Amino acid sequence: MTTIASALLHPTTNLRSAAQSGPLVFAHGKGVRIFDREGRDFIEGLSGLWCTALGHGDEELAEAAARQLRDLSYATLFAGKAHEGALDLADRLVAMAPFDAARVFFGQSGSDANDTQIKLVRHYNNLIGRPGKKKIIALDRGYHGVTIGAASLTGLAGFHREWDLPIPGILRARCPYAYLEAHAGEDEDAFTARLVAELEAMIVAEGPETIAAMIAEPVLGAGGVVIPPRGYFAQVRQVLDRHDILLIADEVITGFGRTGEAFGSQTMGLRPDTMTLAKALSSGYVPISAVLLPQQIYQAFEDASATLGVFAHGYTYSGHPLATAIALKTLDIYRERDIFGQAQRMAPVFARHLQALADHPLIGEARSVGMIGALQIVRDRKTRALYDPADGVGAWCADTAGIRHGVLFRATFDTLCFAPPLVISEAELDEMFARVRAALDDALEWLTARGLA
Ligand code: PMP
Repeated sequence: MTTIASALLHPTTNLRSAAQSGPLVFAHGKGVRIFDREGRDFIEGLSGLWCTALGHGDEELAEAAARQLRDLSYATLFAGKAHEGALDLADRLVAMAPFDAARVFFGQSGSDANDTQIKLVRHYNNLIGRPGKKKIIALDRGYHGVTIGAASLTGLAGFHREWDLPIPGILRARCPYAYLEAHAGEDEDAFTARLVAELEAMIVAEGPETIAAMIAEPVLGAGGVVIPPRGYFAQVRQVLDRHDILLIADEVITGFGRTGEAFGSQTMGLRPDTMTLAKALSSGYVPISAVLLPQQIYQAFEDASATLGVFAHGYTYSGHPLATAIALKTLDIYRERDIFGQAQRMAPVFARHLQALADHPLIGEARSVGMIGALQIVRDRKTRALYDPADGVGAWCADTAGIRHGVLFRATFDTLCFAPPLVISEAELDEMFARVRAALDDALEWLTARGLA
């Protein structure tokens, strides 16, 4: 029986289950905890949706927001206008970027920023006289958002089937997920070599003159925290260089300390041409995203003004003053409180907790880099066989057992994903993983009762 809880259409939700169970309604948050209407506390094992790096209720951010709303609540960046916050934030991001960035375009979400990436790649190649070089390579299991372009880049079938996607011109490369994709006996180096050879074979078969760019997350997040083998991105880069193909780093999750360094590209040896940022750019306090571009691409846009007039892309809320004020304050806090250093110091504690759960009967692999990690549920730890997706084991762990035990995380199929706030303490990590273990024990009981474990 379906009960209608409210008029809300929940994003990215099993709507039937949600209609039956009713929503979990949050009321307030403090630090790494969020509380529901009844006052039950939950530890933010995924920083909301991988975004609240500083946790909830930071007074400095709240004050910065109030101040900004009083001083200047709105200003456009269209037609050459600006405000101090947008100018400062663009400069700060260019100075921080781990590659030769020169210009910053602001949006409001990871999805629209990746749509911007698609449009800019097309625009650039048109302007420099290569209108046939337009296709974009994206990884299987990559997650880049849900707008029509970004969802097309996303490499998860549920975002395509029944949505008439992907758009034409998207090529898919194999996911660098050694645990499930490597052949028996194939070590990481051999696995990497096979993937890189496959990538180049696809480029040659398609025609390099038709391929503009490749997009990748340094660590694939929503696709199940896939950590590519060391050396993967350096070798991919060599292939792309040979065929004059740009590399877009989607740092929406990995940006701002998540991997223990400022950017995941640094940790994973990825040398990008352009970069997408969002989420922790504002610690999730307000929506904002950014696309960082090198001078060469920007220059083509500026030069085109002579014939085109306007660079015809921009949002009402590009560089909204509230968003830029919060992002600037967030970057200040990262520096003043040494948040990336804190993430580096907590990473071994986080890894130790995940590895301790690798012994759990449900878990085949535990993996992490910095403060992002996963537990891979398997039906058979020897053969690495997975449960039937229809059994919904991962979803049950996260949405029933996790909630029952007061810890929030997400499951991608049967991969349990974790990325707690970067400000989490050792004691809070201990508590969080005690709750995760209790949730897994519950899941094991649930599976046993159904004859599945
Ligand atoms: N890229 C990556 C790597 C992401 O993880 C996400 C969101 N999880 C997006 C893009 C899309 O961002 P948004 O949900 O803000 O549109």
